[in-house]
Amino acid sequence: MSHQNHSVVECPRCGRHTIVQESATQWTCLNCSFSKDLSKPGLGSLVIVLGLIFLAIALLLA
Ligand SMILES: [Zn+2]
Repeated sequence: MSHQNHSVVECPRCGRHTIVQESATQWTCLNCSFSKDLSKPGLGSLVIVLGLIFLAIALLLA
């Protein structure tokens, strides 16, 4: 097995540094097949964006 893709990212499932980048947004662990798609925004960032929008509206109405 070659290690041309040096990974510094620790797998959240198995804890090994065997995660490789398969595409611009897709990361996969070679050890346990854990995959993460970064193209889908998490719910946390969506809540932050909505909070900023509400804050801007509140400032405009004040
Ligand atoms: Zn893993």
